[in-house]
Amino acid sequence: MVIIYRVGVITGVKEAKVLEYDLPVALPDQVLIKNKICLICTTDYQQWMGLRPHQPIPMAFGHESAGIVEATGCNVFHVKEGDLVACNGYRPCMVCESCKSGKNSSYCQNSPIKDFKRDAYGLYGLYACGEYQIVEAKHVYKLKPGAAIDTAAFCEPVSTVIHGINRIRVKPGERVLVIGAGTMGLINAEVARFFGADVIISELSDKKLEMAAAMGFNKLIDVRTDDINVRVSEFTNGHPVDAIIIAVGVTAAYKQAFDAAQMGCRLLIFAGGYPPPSWDTDPNRVHYQMTEIIGTYGCSPADFQYAADLLGEKKINLDKLIEGRYPLDDVQKAFEMASSGDAFRYAVML
Ligand SMILES: [Zn+2]
Ligand SMILES: [Zn+2]
Repeated sequence: MVIIYRVGVITGVKEAKVLEYDLPVALPDQVLIKNKICLICTTDYQQWMGLRPHQPIPMAFGHESAGIVEATGCNVFHVKEGDLVACNGYRPCMVCESCKSGKNSSYCQNSPIKDFKRDAYGLYGLYACGEYQIVEAKHVYKLKPGAAIDTAAFCEPVSTVIHGINRIRVKPGERVLVIGAGTMGLINAEVARFFGADVIISELSDKKLEMAAAMGFNKLIDVRTDDINVRVSEFTNGHPVDAIIIAVGVTAAYKQAFDAAQMGCRLLIFAGGYPPPSWDTDPNRVHYQMTEIIGTYGCSPADFQYAADLLGEKKINLDKLIEGRYPLDDVQKAFEMASSGDAFRYAVML
């Protein structure tokens, strides 16, 4: 019996539609997941806006999804029907040397998402915003019983944040400045706080500063009115920050970070920017101040597992970051809202 299911697809610039397809039959190593929620990430809405021409259309978009296992192939043992799961959208092969050595999945030469290929249905993408998704078992991560579906959808963004925080080696008690209090800035702040850091956040939007405060952060800098170095000094009794996470991909944020960096500061470039930001650095300053400039992107399978554990055990809480929800039929509206400027995450409910 052929099951027809519906999928949210970016079909053109500023155009997302619900399309119908036959559900393929899951293979022995695969898991059939009934998706419940898909968050619209910056990657998704910037593609929808036409800002990421390297991401092809039509795109069965999404990677921040969660759902319930509906059926498993005969070779699948780690999850069963009824489990709440999230999927690692980086799709590492898990058998190459890089994967086996625990590296970031960007090193994997066999990941199918490295170069976009149209599938048998003429689409690109992972189908994370479909009513169902068939995923190889090795990419499916189980959350603890009792974890919320909303929470599970944050596994992917949290995993990338864990990867970055490890790259800048945040230690308990260190002072960390997060530039930008959008969704990813606040997830960085939340994970840095869980790692024991004393977190300061700078931002220029009232709405985002209010969200930071609502999540329990009280060392906030409004860069429209405050001098960043004066305020940092007030918060730290004159100590420089140990690390700065740049969580917004705009030129002004890079300038701000470099202004605030002092001796031995570790700078994490977390965000990609479209159009690409520019950054005038003074190499002499990097040299004499021994500044470390560290990039990060994506995660390793171990980071994804850690994210599923932290979220599943409610050690971090990101519930406030879902600002609105739309049913699949209103996927176009969900994109309009997600791309409207000051938005946190919008969710498509499946
Ligand atoms: Zn994402
Ligand atoms: Zn690999």
